[in-house]
Amino acid sequence: MHDLEERFLRYVRIDTQSDEESKSAPSTAKQLDLQRVLADELKTLGAQDVRITDYGCLLATIPARNAPADTPTVAFIAHVDTAPAFSGTGVVPIVHRSYDGSTIVLPDDPTRILDEETAPGLSQKRGEDIVTASGTTLLGADDKAGVAEIMELASYLLSHQEIAHGKIRVCFTPDEEVGRGVDNLTLDDLGADIAYTLDGGGLGEVTYESFSADHAIVKITGVSIHPGSAIGKMVNALQLAARLVDSLPQYTRTPETTSGRDGFIHLYKMTGTSAQAELHFILRDFELEGLGAHGDLLRQACELIEASDLRAQVECEITPQYRNMRYWLEKDMRPVDLAIEAVRRAGIEPVITPIRGGTDGARLTEMGLPTPNLFAGMYNVHGPLEWASLQDMEKAVETCLNLVDLWAQEKKTER
Ligand SMILES: [Zn+2]
Repeated sequence: MHDLEERFLRYVRIDTQSDEESKSAPSTAKQLDLQRVLADELKTLGAQDVRITDYGCLLATIPARNAPADTPTVAFIAHVDTAPAFSGTGVVPIVHRSYDGSTIVLPDDPTRILDEETAPGLSQKRGEDIVTASGTTLLGADDKAGVAEIMELASYLLSHQEIAHGKIRVCFTPDEEVGRGVDNLTLDDLGADIAYTLDGGGLGEVTYESFSADHAIVKITGVSIHPGSAIGKMVNALQLAARLVDSLPQYTRTPETTSGRDGFIHLYKMTGTSAQAELHFILRDFELEGLGAHGDLLRQACELIEASDLRAQVECEITPQYRNMRYWLEKDMRPVDLAIEAVRRAGIEPVITPIRGGTDGARLTEMGLPTPNLFAGMYNVHGPLEWASLQDMEKAVETCLNLVDLWAQEKKTER
């Protein structure tokens, strides 16, 4: 526990913010600052094949011990970058030891307050050791909680010779927060039969469902004429864009009006001139049928706008992003079932929640590597009110150890 805390507090102080504007891989060089620290630590612990790839991913092996050759190889994955949404420079973690349930005021910006309203679930953590940032940065528990837990797992396995287990792979990815965490990672690099991301939130969470996701770009071309002599001639692309947006559902099927298993059409970017406008949408749904319906609705809306003026052109291009990992996992639920069993063995009631977003695991699963997501003990992520529970983090390590043990009893299946 002490080591886990020490690691976590040390890692969050290292600035690893990723950058969505950057075209390089990794998107920011500073992510390597943490990767190098982790690589050195893994080598010192006795891990093998420790390497940082040219795209900034850290990979390592914990060799199998006293296990048959057909024992599955399990990978544990966390991301080192923090969200571009809020500063990660100069993080000062504060441990609220045996938290007493009172309101937490962050010292470097006393307007930032954690209470039950701003930090749901915090009041149930009385007596635990809560970690926050100091008010001017995010904490970065997303996903350095996961990183610290996997390092603790590695340290434990490498120093306890009596534990029999199959080969374990450790993988720390860059750029998860900008959606490129596994862009360059190949399954050969990863070298595992099953993987788990430690990138989930609350205690006991096991996720094997993500959204299915499409991206849509709508291009509207009008007719540009000097406004002084435009009568009967101008076709204003921006006006058409406004009408298109207005014709889409406003009170249903938007992110701000949906929750649970309902999907949405989200307009997130709109640019243009009277001559031409471009609208960017993300379409999300847990089911492919629902996702298709969102796409159809958008296409129909575009056709109607185009038909309203024969001089206008409206193009709608929809491209797939990722798919609900359930589609693959339900063919063999062993990785999920064992995760649930591992959580139970840690004395926790599993919480099975579909994630209203994607994970790197969703893409790995689609590529052929089953990768459910496990809780890491982080809350309120991506902002200054982010917090983590050290006791939850300890339970996450315990869950991983249970998983290693459970997989040591299994055999590889032909895929
Ligand atoms: Zn994350």
